[in-house]
Amino acid sequence: MTLPGSVVEGITPSGPAGSRHAFVTLVTNADYVMGATALARSIRKTGTDADIVVLHTGGVSSELLTPLARLSCRLIATDLLPLSDAFNQRHARKNVHSTAPFTKGRKPDFHSPLDNFCKLRLWQLMDYERCIFIDADALVLKNIDRYFAYPEFSAAPNVYESLADFHRLNSGVFVASPSLRTFNAMLERLDTPDAFWPRTDQTFLQNFFPDWHGLPVTMNMLQYVWFNMPALWDWSSIGVLHYQYEKPWEKNHPKAERLRPLVNLWHAFFNGENIPEIADLQNPNLQNPGLPNPD
Ligand code: UDP
Ligand code: MN
Repeated sequence: MTLPGSVVEGITPSGPAGSRHAFVTLVTNADYVMGATALARSIRKTGTDADIVVLHTGGVSSELLTPLARLSCRLIATDLLPLSDAFNQRHARKNVHSTAPFTKGRKPDFHSPLDNFCKLRLWQLMDYERCIFIDADALVLKNIDRYFAYPEFSAAPNVYESLADFHRLNSGVFVASPSLRTFNAMLERLDTPDAFWPRTDQTFLQNFFPDWHGLPVTMNMLQYVWFNMPALWDWSSIGVLHYQYEKPWEKNHPKAERLRPLVNLWHAFFNGENIPEIADLQNPNLQNPGLPNPD
């Protein structure tokens, strides 16, 4: 038996579901609302019939949600997970950054690691048979509806530097089936004494689903591939472009020049103006990744 979303503890939907499939994202502050606005516009442009669900916490005021409502997103108010104080302390930003420092890129100040765990509430969305979670710092560049047929748990590899990256998953995009049973099992596993998940939900999900299914790398193309592994870049094959680490809307973005075409593309989706044909974009120049390819 499935319970309607409205009686599941911790989530309060603004209206009924319109499909058995949903793209789901999460916003806990004004910065990620900007991300979700560009993401939702990009998903609408693919012509999908699936719902676009935005889980939002108390950190987001109702006025901030207006652009997402205009894009016909299904807004679902979301409580933080019921986690112990000790767990919350271990995963506070200061502690995560000192215990497991980020050496490959810079996380913006507005990123709170603890908030990431709210993604797990996707498993409470019992109105849906299958969901595709997408981080708010991503764009969908073509129709990806066929991935609703993929099994739980499917995710793409966390590739942005080398072949060794294929061993681990990136939790910015994943396919999952809501189930209260799974949700409860996750809560039990998550907050055990001394549990520390250095990359938060990502480390947890890889541990919870050790036999995860692979999505193609094009379903979660990480922005650093543009300059680290340019031979892997092919605009026309990208389903989801994911701006991991620095965000395209950051004011003092240390890599904005190296990522200029990607940053510009995000702004076009955010503003809803001059969105280019993706297939017309220039692939990176393999000799000089900062410049477009001459051919
Ligand atoms: N998120 C959020 N508020 C936060 C941190 C994360 O809403 O303070 C959500 C948002 O959807 C974001 C995702 O969790 O895209 C994961 O964080 P982020 O994308 O910044 O991590 P990265 O992809 O850089 O590892
Ligand atoms: Mn992300």
